[in-house]
Amino acid sequence: MKTDKSAPPEAARPPGEAGRRAPRRVREVAIRGIPVSPGIAIGPVFDTTEPPAEAPRRAIDAASVDAEKGRLATAVAASRKQVAKLKTKLGVLPEEAQEELEPLLDAYAMMLGDSRLIRGARKRIEAGLLAAETAVADEADAIAEVILSAKDDDKAGLRRRAGEVREIARRLTRNLTQNPFRSFKDVPEGAILVAEELTPADAALLDPARIAGVATEEGGADGHTAIMLRALGLPAVLGAPGLTEAARRGDPVVLDGAAGSITLHPSAATLAAAKEQVAAYARERQRLSKLRRLPAVTTDGEEVELQANMEIPAELPLIAQAGAQGIGLLRTEFLFMNREDLPDEDAQAAAYAPILAAMAGDPVTIRVLDWGGEKDMEALAEGVEPHHAGPNPALGLRGVRMLLKRPELLEMQFAAILRVAGAAPDSQVRVLLPMVTVPAEVKAAREIYERVARRLRRRGEKLPEKLPELGAMIETPGAALAADAIALEADFFAIGTNDLAMYTLAVDRGDAEVAHLYDPLHPAVLRLVQFSTEAALRLRMPVSICGEMAGNPRLVPLLLGLGIRCLSMNAGAIPRVKQAVRGLDIGDCARFARRVMEQSDPARIRELVDGFATGVTERG
Ligand code: PEP
Ligand code: MG
Repeated sequence: MKTDKSAPPEAARPPGEAGRRAPRRVREVAIRGIPVSPGIAIGPVFDTTEPPAEAPRRAIDAASVDAEKGRLATAVAASRKQVAKLKTKLGVLPEEAQEELEPLLDAYAMMLGDSRLIRGARKRIEAGLLAAETAVADEADAIAEVILSAKDDDKAGLRRRAGEVREIARRLTRNLTQNPFRSFKDVPEGAILVAEELTPADAALLDPARIAGVATEEGGADGHTAIMLRALGLPAVLGAPGLTEAARRGDPVVLDGAAGSITLHPSAATLAAAKEQVAAYARERQRLSKLRRLPAVTTDGEEVELQANMEIPAELPLIAQAGAQGIGLLRTEFLFMNREDLPDEDAQAAAYAPILAAMAGDPVTIRVLDWGGEKDMEALAEGVEPHHAGPNPALGLRGVRMLLKRPELLEMQFAAILRVAGAAPDSQVRVLLPMVTVPAEVKAAREIYERVARRLRRRGEKLPEKLPELGAMIETPGAALAADAIALEADFFAIGTNDLAMYTLAVDRGDAEVAHLYDPLHPAVLRLVQFSTEAALRLRMPVSICGEMAGNPRLVPLLLGLGIRCLSMNAGAIPRVKQAVRGLDIGDCARFARRVMEQSDPARIRELVDGFATGVTERG
């Protein structure tokens, strides 16, 4: 594609398009989002909305014409969706910008309909045997040339129209050439990554030693991307409307991951305050690190187990530093992300072995693959598509349902886990099933587990005499309400409050639009936590909480009061949670929990919880 030297004036540029945005503002601009991962980051913006390098010209053979037209249709559909989405976001912009952009986005939507651009590109694929991106570029150039050679005195108007055609062609090219695996290698050291959206798989590629912070327009507080960012200790604000429109590459920015604020072009005073906060954070970290060797025990001597959640192997040093008593939730999805093939049994065993070794006999709870919903992974798409997602991926074939439908995946993972457990006799491995809804799923998984163990033993593999415990995640309302029945099939429970809140309240945990409705303190969620905890305690079965709730020091009194004695969280949260535990009396917690559970209003519950934490709510 030729370079566009006739781009429209800055004021007419659409949001989200690099180099094509509203005029530069140098005044301080504050944008609010959802606080997701605490910490202050100061640095230049590095936005990821830049168009890719030009696509190389490519010819195709006659047999590929239909496939190429299909690619074009998919890219057109994706582009239309993006333009429609941009339009819904106009409301957050100043009125002037809205007036400029609305007709422009309408023009884009039209060009993505039955337009000359799309018809012409289709023809070029067929008649010229060209790849879709080459056909789009050629057609856009041809249309732009016609527009520019028109006899019209409004030369600026002609240039603008030609620019619009090329702009939409660039969007199509971006969608056509999109690399399924993004790379963040080009992000300069100390930069703050700004994106419309980051997937959990993207987040797994970020290097916290390089990147200072992350801010995105989409996303919720307890989505997996947020969890990954917390795990990496990266200050982050997600769900910040208007961000990609306002931020440009190189802009100076202060990001406050605890307050959920992004300040572009900070004033000297803002910058000085941010630097002071960075120093205060460092002092606080230093203070908390002294807790590392102290036990997590209440003032009346009740021990509480504080474990770490782990999403990627890079977290191991952080987990050790935090003084975690083992891993309460190893999310094995990382093994399946950012790759096109499946990791085989040996590859999986090679990934688990160093984790067991690093935890040196402390428990390691390995959750088998929880694929589906927002944790979509390339490696699995093949063979499961087009049925895996269904009309509502969160309610579709995910977690243990998917594994029981593809038992070869479950068998391979069980075999890898059993082998490493056998090879490390001093380790304490546990195996956890995700997204359980009925006891029969645990029973069916256990049959496979035992069958795999028998097969391995026949093969001469050394396995632990007693197989590692097999537990169930309680993260759907169905599982929570059937917890007494599931407890008869499972060896332990891990309560996943992230999904439990999502499914109970019918609020997507990763959606910024409904983030204000996502509330694990809703009495419905708390009652389900209470019901499942009590079902486990009646059978003297181990039960833990491994949702994000567990890492919030303010919620510790309530959770201990409900009978929970094991909390698993992102490693960075352990010191503060330990500090909270060490200041509590179990009797106070139990009385406090009873009082909370009598409430029906989530706002009142929040008030009580905050009051307890600050000493306003009576402890007795
Ligand atoms: C949960 O749902 O609370 C949980 C711990 O699992 P994940 O966040 O991985 O879905
Ligand atoms: Mg879950």
